[in-house]
Amino acid sequence: MNKKNIVIKFGGNALNETTGRAFCKALAKLPELGFAPIVIHGGGPQINAMLEALAIESHFVNGLRYTDEKTLSVAEMVLSGQVGKMLVQFLAGENILAVSISGKDGKTLVADKMTCDDNGKPIDLGFVGNVSVVNPTLLNTLTNAGFIPIIAPLAYGNDGMTYNINADYAAAAIAKAVSAEHFIMMTNISGLLDNEKNIIHQTNSQEIRELIQDNVIQGGMIPKTLSAIDTLSHVGEVNIIDGREADNLLKLLSGKIIGTTIRA
Ligand code: ADP
Ligand code: MG
Repeated sequence: MNKKNIVIKFGGNALNETTGRAFCKALAKLPELGFAPIVIHGGGPQINAMLEALAIESHFVNGLRYTDEKTLSVAEMVLSGQVGKMLVQFLAGENILAVSISGKDGKTLVADKMTCDDNGKPIDLGFVGNVSVVNPTLLNTLTNAGFIPIIAPLAYGNDGMTYNINADYAAAAIAKAVSAEHFIMMTNISGLLDNEKNIIHQTNSQEIRELIQDNVIQGGMIPKTLSAIDTLSHVGEVNIIDGREADNLLKLLSGKIIGTTIRA
């Protein structure tokens, strides 16, 4: 039987040992339900903690961290060495074989330096990239062999450098490349909220653009919803759900209304 690809992005803000363990327990049930999961994880708060522990000073541009060489090497160490391996470890405990890679492995993610922000304004954030190409060969090889790929959002640069990619955008690029049935974004809030803080259960591209215009969608929810709607030509549906409640993943896939569903 052909398994259905499902791409899951787990945000760094909801991820800790407790939620990570619970997530892996839920994730472990997906293969027997006929799904081939591919996971992309964030790690912002974990990177911040390591930068602080190493007393590396950060510079900010428009409130966004400038990724210099030192910061990039810490990001790579934390994402690939710590966060990815933690998930592999928890899955191993559930008797699930997972493989932690970054987008650099197998040239899965190839990027160019990011030169403008979400609004198209020029910006220099150092080693932060935009995905230009996804090569899904390694991911397909792993999933066909029954392994769950766990991907850190780093990419090989067309210029030979390493680039850090916003995990929402990295996950979206991968979801498109494997034509995922579901693209699930697990975050630190129950779903997309309207201007009265009520959860929006169903929405579409048009409404999301209006919510961004009206400043109802802000901060980290902007790249999340923009990357979500960018996938809709290739992906069945996008779901934004609360990653602090791992059972939401299984409830969603059993057909319950959980969090926010985005369709074209
Ligand atoms: P992640 O680590 O999962 O990427 P982020 O912190 O980057 O999480 O993005 C999720 C956050 O976006 C929420 O916790 C919330 O503070 C913020 N946010 C801004 N606008 C909205 C909105 N309209 N609905 C829900 N969350 C929003
Ligand atoms: Mg985020």
